[in-house]
Amino acid sequence: MSPGADPLARLEGGCLCGALRYRLACDAVLCVYCCHCRDCQRLSSSAFSVSLVLPAAAFMLLQGDPKSIARRADSGREVRGFFCGDCGTRLFDRVIGQPEIMVVKAATLDDTAWLRPVAQFWTGRKQAWVTLPQDQLVDARQPDNFAEVIALYRARHGGSDAGS
Ligand SMILES: [Zn+2]
Ligand SMILES: [Zn+2]
Repeated sequence: MSPGADPLARLEGGCLCGALRYRLACDAVLCVYCCHCRDCQRLSSSAFSVSLVLPAAAFMLLQGDPKSIARRADSGREVRGFFCGDCGTRLFDRVIGQPEIMVVKAATLDDTAWLRPVAQFWTGRKQAWVTLPQDQLVDARQPDNFAEVIALYRARHGGSDAGS
């Protein structure tokens, strides 16, 4: 990592107003991906969202009490999204039926410069002007589970230089 960067800023994040704060356990990130689905476009008010997947046990809410809303994702999966009731920032999703993982909206981290996505999901819905990277896993929809993306992320960013 670059000299002077604050290691905690890579692991801590929160909502826009500061009511909600969280911390990720060290080296817990399983993978980082971008999602171009319509829900992510609407929720982020942007072309795509950047998400990171980690074991649910590696996520600690430090402060605040998020509100949540259930929705049916484009995949058909039922997802519960958690957000700040004061400022509306979306912080993380839980997939119903997959309680062991957590999908954190990576833009809420204090330091986002280290994020290196390895996959692009729902590219069938992407904005026409978005150019996809050549070296990432691309799926017009999304895989049934994260196994392949996690293996790719581990191959590229895992091992001794992960997170430090
Ligand atoms: Zn807030
Ligand atoms: Zn999405």
